[in-house]
Order: sequence, then structure tokens, then C-alpha cells
Amino acid sequence: MPTPPCPCGRSEPYEKCCGRFHAGTAAAPTAEALMRSRYCAFVRGDAGYLLRTWHPRTRPARLDLDPGMRWTGLEILDTADGSAFHATGTVTFRASYRGGSLHERSRFERVDGAWVYVDGEFLD
Ligand SMILES: [Zn+2]
Repeated sequence: MPTPPCPCGRSEPYEKCCGRFHAGTAAAPTAEALMRSRYCAFVRGDAGYLLRTWHPRTRPARLDLDPGMRWTGLEILDTADGSAFHATGTVTFRASYRGGSLHERSRFERVDGAWVYVDGEFLD
């Protein structure tokens, strides 16, 4: 039976995609990869990963995920910088959930080499 693709929208199975970042066995190489892995953590209700990948400057003290939220898909619309050669990056995306979607431009920075989420602005 074929393994289902990762919830972040890439074709690889979870274990070979965001699962490696969630488990801590690999680090997201780009801002986009971190963004995908954070979306995937929302899908899986992994608040610990979301907090670990939040910039210490903007990280909330705690994060209560809504267990009734059903995420249905992620679409990356645009990326700027955020590669192995950058210290900052932005990712514009649309994350869909049952009943609506979220259109956001997120900012990412590297802290000690690892990409972390700084903040985001809603676009509509
Ligand atoms: Zn993934």
C-alpha cells in the first residue's frame, strides 16, 4: 500500500519530509521547508515543535492549539531569500482549513544557523 504524502503538500511520506524535522534528526534547510514543517505541525497538533521553531524574541509563552481545527492544505505562493545563503527570508502562503483559509506572509530568521519563525502579516 502506498504511503500517504506528507500533510505539507510535498509528495514524500511524512517520515521522509517534515517528520525528520519534527523528530529533530534533521534541520529545515530553507525558510520554505521550515514553513512547511510548521504547517505540518499545526496539522498534527505538535505545539512543542511550533514553540521550538519560534524566534525567542516573538515566541509566545504557551500555545494552545484548537483541537477542532481541521487543516486541509498548504499552498506556497511566493518565497524571498530564505535559502542556505541567507540569514532572513519570507514565505507567502495560503493555508486552508475546513471553512476558510489563511493568507499570510511570514518572516523567518536564522538563530544559531537554524531557521525560526519571526512573525507574519495577514494579507486578506
Ligand atoms: Zn512535509
